[in-house]
Amino acid sequence: MNYIQENIEKLRQQIPPYVTIVAVSKTHSVQSIEEAYRAGISIFGENKVQELVQKAKTISQPVQWHMIGHLQTNKVKTLLPHVTLIHSLDSLKLAKEINKESQKIQKITPCLLQVHIAKEETKFGFDEYELSSFLNNPDLPNLSHIKICGLMGMATFTDDTVQIRKEFSTLRKLFDKLKTTYFANNPDFKELSMGMSNDFKIAIDEGSTMIRVGSIIFGQRNYT
Ligand SMILES: *Cc1c(COP(=O)(O)O)cnc(C)c1O
Repeated sequence: MNYIQENIEKLRQQIPPYVTIVAVSKTHSVQSIEEAYRAGISIFGENKVQELVQKAKTISQPVQWHMIGHLQTNKVKTLLPHVTLIHSLDSLKLAKEINKESQKIQKITPCLLQVHIAKEETKFGFDEYELSSFLNNPDLPNLSHIKICGLMGMATFTDDTVQIRKEFSTLRKLFDKLKTTYFANNPDFKELSMGMSNDFKIAIDEGSTMIRVGSIIFGQRNYT
């Protein structure tokens, strides 16, 4: 077993079987992705469209690709044929573009609504007010080629686990509220994507169904 496969084994021992692992492979090679695939990982997350598409075209294994990073409308068309879930839907404009391009290729694209829960200003996502105006926009029900499958959030980058827990708990409560109100008759709305390498245990405690983990599987990233 190589280190990637060992890391995956160790991770599996720490999480319940109902939690989906999205292995975040940004900056890592197709070879590393293939190692992870051999250890049973089938979903990979990337945060840049070009990198995702390039890897998707290169790899021969039947893996699924999730877009986890900020998505610009002008990149949607390129991305769509390769992606099985977009975690970063954060505006009506983007929803309309995904819908339009999905319709063209006769696809219904699953998306998560990204919610801003962190203290940092720089993290993308809806705040509660924006989310509510998004959900109540009269155009939304007409977007028949997107499917809203849940929420995604990123906690503040901090060692303060109390703060992290509070943020995940906030997202979980919002998820529960929407699930019993706005999405009450929509069984597709079931995923809560939260938790990264440094905070996935707290996220799972707080109700995560999907963790996005990179460095704990592939090691530290080298940005050159
Ligand atoms: C990079 C990234 C991750 C994974 O980060 P790690 O700390 O390596 O686990 C998760 N989610 C998003 C949105 C990311 O950009």
